[in-house]
Amino acid sequence: MSKANFTIRQLFEMDACTNCRLCADVCPAACAAMNGELSAVYRMKGLKRHLKSRTGIFSKLLGRRPPSLEELKHYADTVFRCTLCSNCEEICPLGIRLKELWLSLREDLVQEKAYPSKIDMIRANLAKSRNVFGEDNSERTEWVEDMRRPPADRYVRPQAEVVYITGCVSAYFPLAQKIPIALAEIMDAAGVDFTLLGEDEWCCGFPLLGAGLMEMFADFKSQNLAAVKAKGAKTVVFACPSCYQMWREYYETDLELLSAPELLLRLVRAGKVPLAELPLTVTYHDPCDLGRGARVFEEPREVIRSIPGVTLVELPHNREKCMCCGGGGNLEMVDADLAAKIARDKIDEVLSTGARAVITSCQQCVRTMTSCVKRNKIPLDVLDIVQLVRKALIPATPAKS
Ligand code: SF4
Ligand code: SF4
Repeated sequence: MSKANFTIRQLFEMDACTNCRLCADVCPAACAAMNGELSAVYRMKGLKRHLKSRTGIFSKLLGRRPPSLEELKHYADTVFRCTLCSNCEEICPLGIRLKELWLSLREDLVQEKAYPSKIDMIRANLAKSRNVFGEDNSERTEWVEDMRRPPADRYVRPQAEVVYITGCVSAYFPLAQKIPIALAEIMDAAGVDFTLLGEDEWCCGFPLLGAGLMEMFADFKSQNLAAVKAKGAKTVVFACPSCYQMWREYYETDLELLSAPELLLRLVRAGKVPLAELPLTVTYHDPCDLGRGARVFEEPREVIRSIPGVTLVELPHNREKCMCCGGGGNLEMVDADLAAKIARDKIDEVLSTGARAVITSCQQCVRTMTSCVKRNKIPLDVLDIVQLVRKALIPATPAKS
């Protein structure tokens, strides 16, 4: 572990930590696992200890030895069992940029070869197949065939005003494929001139960020930017908050970037999405990357409230305090049991509102929460916001549920 992998600001921030432990109280991973070693405060202490033992005259004088590979691996096991939800950062009274610190730490541990073995799978899948699941990248638009009236071009058009980046989860998981189907139908109905990138869409790079593998990112970024440019598009739309976050923070582009709720609100306000009565009480789960990450809190709520008959009740922890569903940070790949426990805590909170359905704006949240309700036979609908709008859209053939 080397100080070279951390910025001067991060080193100062580590020193500033007062050990107040507020971050531990809001950590979904530490709470679900009942294991304080997963909390930010423990991680911070370990990081400071490891860095001090590796560098400086004092460590030599005091005889501090560097951590063994075994110790580092144990520490890494706690570092990667984190959803990167940013709850710790949100509550930290000193404003320490903890998520950025956790990302630097993951990169550092990968360089030290102290990381969970699943990271190698992420690396191999992305290097070979350009998507995180190792699927054939030419099958990215296969979901279009499941539409009632699939267009012959599978929405892969030579030029368009808008490019819709579907993301890996929506492209390959049957359950999540309902989301791009719904969004494509809404955009068709609203007359949006859009295209998909097909096999020219590569993973946005978010799994590389979470896996500490950012040295591979440049190729993914340049491929995706070139593919969008080739379409002559001015706007890029994302139903996946992680893709959206990645493009906003790491793509350095002047293209207009829109999350699905922002696009939906624009279309609703323009009167392009006529909505029928839909009597339903729902609650809204803020995805971590869209809410705390991109601060898109009000747009999805306004879209939900615009549907006649829909009543929105808030979760006890909502907006910037929303608790993660367990699906972030590659946690599902590293510790599926812990991800499932966090999801159960989330669903229990949803049930406390009395809502019949939980709405979110993220394919991964939909997958995680749906798996939980199915596994536990809980009578609760889990829908992405584009699915909710599609249900209410008129005129329309009845949506697949
Ligand atoms: S990012 Fe979330 S899961 Fe990770 S340490 Fe912070 S609060 Fe816990
Ligand atoms: S909340 Fe901030 S200052 Fe308090 S222990 Fe956590 S990281 Fe340190």
